[in-house]
Amino acid sequence: MVTAWRSVVARATARMEWGAATILVICLTAALPLYALSAYRWSVGALGDARLGVAGATVWTAMAGYVALRRRLGPWDSGTLVALASTVMVVLGVGLDDLNVRWMCATALVVVPVASAMLLRARGVAITTAVAVVGVVAISLNLPAPPVLRAYAALMMVAMVVAPISVVTVLVRRMQAARDLARTLAVTDPLTGLANRRGIEERAGALLRAAAAAGQPVTVMAIDLDHFKSVNDTHGHAVGDRVLTAVAQTLTRVARAEDLLVRLGGEELGWISHFPTAADVVAAAERLRTAVHETTGPDLPAVSVSVGVATAHLAADSDPAAAVLGLLSTADRALYAAKRAGRDRVVHARPGREPALAR
Ligand code: GH3
Ligand code: MG
Ligand code: MG
Repeated sequence: MVTAWRSVVARATARMEWGAATILVICLTAALPLYALSAYRWSVGALGDARLGVAGATVWTAMAGYVALRRRLGPWDSGTLVALASTVMVVLGVGLDDLNVRWMCATALVVVPVASAMLLRARGVAITTAVAVVGVVAISLNLPAPPVLRAYAALMMVAMVVAPISVVTVLVRRMQAARDLARTLAVTDPLTGLANRRGIEERAGALLRAAAAAGQPVTVMAIDLDHFKSVNDTHGHAVGDRVLTAVAQTLTRVARAEDLLVRLGGEELGWISHFPTAADVVAAAERLRTAVHETTGPDLPAVSVSVGVATAHLAADSDPAAAVLGLLSTADRALYAAKRAGRDRVVHARPGREPALAR
């Protein structure tokens, strides 16, 4: 009992999500004037209107109470509530004698699908639009007017539902596409198409979990083009860019699709993956090193890479990006050992020891 009461209090004091708050405000805004209107209709003897009004307002109040208690709504909650609110509006629009309120209900039905486009997924928006279309047709055809005018009103009201919802749906889709693109661009290096350092933060957790699931240690390789300055000096910066891009493509070919490939900065690339044994790690790095020799075509100068490799079992639960960056600095030390040893080679750092030459 005490636990149940505590959970009610915890829910009631939790922060409300903006979508839920919007639905709460809409329910109350619909319910309160309807109580006042029902009281007025009662006072002038229109008891049918008064009863129907109180029934509709009560449904909206109950919905507001539900939202206030839940604080956060899933797509099903939101969809059901919006569809219920619309249905109440249709019943009032058809059933009340007061002509002004009927028009108000029809107008409100036009707004509901537009608001739902901001809150609901495609199916929810389709359902609320269908309810609104059926509702405005029912209300229009029930108006005390000649048949032609009623049909005209129905047509106009359907257009008023469909036109704004179409515009809003297109705008919401474009906004989502632009947001997805911005998200991708924020983690992508424009020259090579590989991830940038921010990509490590974004994907480190998933990579560590994948390695743990495979029961394998995480491997980080720091890959640096050898004497790249002289490529620029001899052939120009544009050719240097093409060489860098070609090496990035070679790395993409050699690595697995699920590996994280990063341009760490300048002409240094990173390959973050997992392999069963140290021998497999070195074999993969050697495959890359050899493939880079064959990267350059007739119009590009030959280049080589030095590769520093570090391997460790990393826990995915703490700070995955920091763990990967820590391993990267070990790989970097191995990379410098490879440079000192003459370049165009792979050095595998072993934890707790100085980087050892693997070839
Ligand atoms: P090392 O074998 O010791 O790595 O020698 P290096 O010449 O490759 O290294 P250094 O650090 O002396 O020079 C790196 C060069 O990479 C200098 C810089 O102009 C070039 N570079 C960095 N980023 C780019 C880029 O985006 N495009 C081009 N074309 N060059 C770049
Ligand atoms: Mg270099
Ligand atoms: Mg460098």
